[in-house]
Amino acid sequence: MRQQLAQLVASKGITDEKVLDAIRKIPRHLFMDSSFEDHAYQDKAFPIAADQTISQPYTVAFQSELLQVKRGAKVLEIGTGSGYQTALLCELGARVYSVERQQELFKKTKRFLENIGYRPRYLSFGDGYKGLPQFAPFDRILVTAGAPFVPQALLGQLKVGGRLVIPVGKDSQIMTLLERTSEREFHKTEYGEFRFVPLLEDRN
Ligand code: SAH
Repeated sequence: MRQQLAQLVASKGITDEKVLDAIRKIPRHLFMDSSFEDHAYQDKAFPIAADQTISQPYTVAFQSELLQVKRGAKVLEIGTGSGYQTALLCELGARVYSVERQQELFKKTKRFLENIGYRPRYLSFGDGYKGLPQFAPFDRILVTAGAPFVPQALLGQLKVGGRLVIPVGKDSQIMTLLERTSEREFHKTEYGEFRFVPLLEDRN
């Protein structure tokens, strides 16, 4: 089923073999509520705890491909959620730092990733708008929730030469790549439209 999911994602235009290999490897059904387990290898988003979602595999693959992660790269992820994207970044050999604002999900996913043997460098309970200044700068930054604007703190925590992938917009989002070309300059490229749960500012 994983093989078929990777094929489906490839048929939609993903060509990065390392990303496809990771999809072939990661047991997505374990990242989901058991009531959705039977659907885990469909190319769909599903509800997880705390009213959040595990992103659609195509979306995860699209963002991961765009990020161009090299082995050993220091990557900041905003929105740990189920941990599926975190696991994929680990499979790509990244040193992963991930932030989640929902305490319930943070705790659950931290325990879960440990149990199935994924070892992100650091999982943080906090507000992704602020990034993780204590570990900055990062080679890559990936936002996995819909951001109404690009948070200034994240731009500041990106290395020169680094890439920030962020879906920008309210109801639907434009996938946006920001490459930091110098201390002061960023080069922006926009990709298609996607739908994410919102990147929320206040903790509840
Ligand atoms: N990468 C996840 C996607 C989960 S959906 C996965 O593969 O499952 C987006 C996640 O972003 C949710 O878990 C949500 O709680 C979280 N989120 C929303 N606003 C946030 C913020 N300000 N800081 C950190 N995480 C946030």
